[in-house]
Amino acid sequence: MRVTIIGNLLLVLAFVLLADSCAVNPVSGKKQLMLLSEDQEKALGLESDPGILASYGVYDDAKLQQFITEKGKKMGAISHRPNLDYKFKVLDSPVVNAFAVPGGYVYFTRGILAYFNNEAQFAGVLGHEIGHVTARHSAQQYSQQILAQAGLMIGMVVSEDFRKYAEVANVGVSLLFLKFSRDHESESDKLGVAYSSQIGYDAHEMAKFFNTLSRLSGDEGQSLPTFLSTHPNPDDRNKKVDEMAGSWVQKSPGTKLDVNRDSYLRMIDGLVYGEDPRQGYVENDNFYHPELKLQYAVPSGWQLVNSPSQVQMAPKDGKALMIFTLSQEKTLQAAAQGLLTQYQLTKVSSRETTINGLPALEMVAEQAAQAQDQQQQQQQQSPPVRLLTYQIQYNGMIYQFLGVTEKANYTSYEPTFLNVIKSFKELKEAGKLNRQPERIRIKTVDRSGTFADALKTFNMPEKRHKELAILNGMELNSPVTKGMLIKVVAQ
Ligand SMILES: [Zn+2]
Repeated sequence: MRVTIIGNLLLVLAFVLLADSCAVNPVSGKKQLMLLSEDQEKALGLESDPGILASYGVYDDAKLQQFITEKGKKMGAISHRPNLDYKFKVLDSPVVNAFAVPGGYVYFTRGILAYFNNEAQFAGVLGHEIGHVTARHSAQQYSQQILAQAGLMIGMVVSEDFRKYAEVANVGVSLLFLKFSRDHESESDKLGVAYSSQIGYDAHEMAKFFNTLSRLSGDEGQSLPTFLSTHPNPDDRNKKVDEMAGSWVQKSPGTKLDVNRDSYLRMIDGLVYGEDPRQGYVENDNFYHPELKLQYAVPSGWQLVNSPSQVQMAPKDGKALMIFTLSQEKTLQAAAQGLLTQYQLTKVSSRETTINGLPALEMVAEQAAQAQDQQQQQQQQSPPVRLLTYQIQYNGMIYQFLGVTEKANYTSYEPTFLNVIKSFKELKEAGKLNRQPERIRIKTVDRSGTFADALKTFNMPEKRHKELAILNGMELNSPVTKGMLIKVVAQ
């Protein structure tokens, strides 16, 4: 969780709904139904960008930023839409993904940058994302998705599945994880090969990177969504990309296509790898947030999801949910009122109190069963839900806990909710406040052998060898030679 608030896309989306038009696709040259005009696309990008940056945070690295901007602008200029004002940004997320928003906004997570093994792999994905922009896939997709979601998003209330509370807060984020169709993926792969070859990179590497992604999504330890969950794998993807890369080589005989492995690896030396504990971590049934300097208990056996905008905790059976988030309001009373309005709740009781000396406001509220009927006529009437909410003033901000469950189960969950809330306090322990993330470290192999041998010389524990093999785009028995650079991870 970060000290930021997701920008509200709702107005932009509502605006977008009002217009429709037919436009010529810049890549195919065909006319197609497009709800977004080019100006609207640009407006959507411009409006979405602050919310995206706020919810993920920008990964602050001047040389990486300069590199992706330079390559991105160069590629934009040779693309089918050279006049768009492309923007390229690195997001502070361990998720392995890259995506584009209409209008030419292209984002790479630090997670995906860690998995590229050379500039050519980066260029292939850059080309793929720019391809989605130039072929206006995201625009078409936004159009369809917006139509489908409009009813849900506007005035969304608690559904029979109260976990949708989480979705309300995550509307901004979920928009980024819109899925493309396999046809769009194939077209973007083709454009990715073309664009990256045109700026001088060997697109065979793009196929190799898709192989890394496949290994990553098949890795049991990997729970984060990856590129392939938003850019589904077309049939024979690697083979087709490899063949198209081959024809580009044939088309331009004598032209040297670059891979640039060492320069890329040196550039990402020190990149934060995996979850960043400075943004919150769980240890011994406690959640610690060093940046916000706070901690609280996690009920034993409950699962916790720490996303940029909120922390969610739930027992495995899903019968209750706790959400911890920041209120945008300035006072405890206003924050509580905001919740009532946002979720159309009825207040049962409220009282002023303190939590470990911090001013707090307790409120019990209910969501009546019929409230959602107005929204979803077709659906079964759901049982009423009851919430225990706490607004807590700490460090100049208002934090809020929501404990939600069916009204019938409330009495059995209330003690658990209260245990969590009453454990909220300032985090003071230096050891926990100073917890550091792991980083990519680039090492020079000192003697020839297998990749696994090299990992041993750098004291990488055996249980992480498989993970490191994927990270390096190698197999454990791949040969490595003296002087070669490889990635390891260390603090
Ligand atoms: Zn894609």
